Amino acid sequence: MDKNFLTGVTSIGSAGAEQYRTLMKEAVDVAANWLVGEKMFDGIPIAMLRAELNTLDFLPEQGVGDLQALHEANTYFLKHALQVHHPLCSAHLHCPTTIASQLAEVLINVSNQSMDSWDQSPSATLFEEYIITQLRKQIGYPVGDAGVFTSGGTQSNFMGLLLAREHAKRHFSHYQQSELVVICSEQAHFSVQQSMLLLGFNDSATIAIACDDGGRIIVDKLASTLQELKTLGKKAFAIIATAGTTDTGAIDDINAIATLANQYQVWLHIDAAWGGILLFSQKYRDRLLGIELADSISLDFHKQFLQTISCGAFVLKDAANYELIRRHDDYLNPIEDELEGVPNLVAKSIQTTRRFDALKLWMSFRSLGAKNYAEMVDYSIDLAQQVATYIDSSSTFELVNSTQIASVLFRIKSEVLMGKDSTLVHRFIAQLLFEQGNANLGITRRDGKTTLKLTLLNPYTKIIHVKALLAMIERLVSQY
Ligand SMILES: *Cc1c(COP(=O)(O)O)cnc(C)c1O
Repeated sequence: MDKNFLTGVTSIGSAGAEQYRTLMKEAVDVAANWLVGEKMFDGIPIAMLRAELNTLDFLPEQGVGDLQALHEANTYFLKHALQVHHPLCSAHLHCPTTIASQLAEVLINVSNQSMDSWDQSPSATLFEEYIITQLRKQIGYPVGDAGVFTSGGTQSNFMGLLLAREHAKRHFSHYQQSELVVICSEQAHFSVQQSMLLLGFNDSATIAIACDDGGRIIVDKLASTLQELKTLGKKAFAIIATAGTTDTGAIDDINAIATLANQYQVWLHIDAAWGGILLFSQKYRDRLLGIELADSISLDFHKQFLQTISCGAFVLKDAANYELIRRHDDYLNPIEDELEGVPNLVAKSIQTTRRFDALKLWMSFRSLGAKNYAEMVDYSIDLAQQVATYIDSSSTFELVNSTQIASVLFRIKSEVLMGKDSTLVHRFIAQLLFEQGNANLGITRRDGKTTLKLTLLNPYTKIIHVKALLAMIERLVSQY
């Protein structure tokens, strides 16, 4: 039985193309109109937003059509969405995006390639291989293409730990899994612990080493822990160093840690989800000296590289280690393909169906060039420094961390609070600023005390924005 579906699915041929063109232009209009808005958030209460959603049929008997669905999405979703482009949307490592990555999304989406096998993404597969090759050069890794794009730092960290564990099982097979542990710092991303859980380890198998005031792992403690483990007959199968901790942007002493990893024959994974951007800095590249000594690295492009979500990479120094997790399936990546030199990226990933996110980074680099990228990252770091100096000299605020990348932690001085509950006041202020659509401030804890955080990834954020924000906070303190 033949049936003509009139609408709703992309199709090949000029009629399908025209339908796509017309609707996409509408979508671009809706999106651009949204960008015009100056507020960060319209402040709609949670209960009201929930109730609004329930007013529409989830699966109407007769569909409303693409245009109507688009306008409904605008009304119910986009109008209440967080304006991540706002200069004071600075709570998290959540960035505005390069226009190039937005352009790339259009191509990624229309082509709907899947990166698992060559026959689902021929040109895209080669692009991704090529981009990984280039990223490796930037890192200082040997020539090659071992690495893969991921959903982000969480997945990349998991892959690092998975490979490290398999490596230990192969090369240190006299240890039981119960004798294997991982060492990271107290400031390591929680995905390290979570990955360990996924790999079948108890929480006690993750050893978190204390950090110095700057948030960097204390290397002496790392050394003594490694020695202790040896005496106990246990084996650290990985050390996770962080280049840019999520909270304070602290960069561990990579060279010292690499020396220890080498001495004790431990896999070194560097979580450079945030700090990896410094590979492209002009002024601060040297903060990553020694990164090429790592066995594997996590990079995240949907942070300070300003790519749309998702976009990350896992990079593996020695391609031979990929053999530890390579699996074949007759229908997807048969051995014969490999013998004929047909690349199927599925063997490098823990995802099967996978987006062509690599295109975004390629287009952004092509479009902006090295100089712009370097200037943007250096600008943010310098701005953070400037903000830190300003806060440090203020009579209302105290500076909590020394900034290494682009985050500034600060809190209201206790004498300004005049006995008010510090946690409540800080939370009140952050929530009010969010609801009023003026700013999104991070709330975290340092030395057991509630602390505010600015993560300054937006190249359009200026010192005057931050000064205005601090003045707003000063006014709010007295209102509490
Ligand atoms: C953000 C971050 C992660 C997690 O990355 P996702 O992209 O959110 O999965 C891991 N490690 C560090 C240091 C991070 O800052």
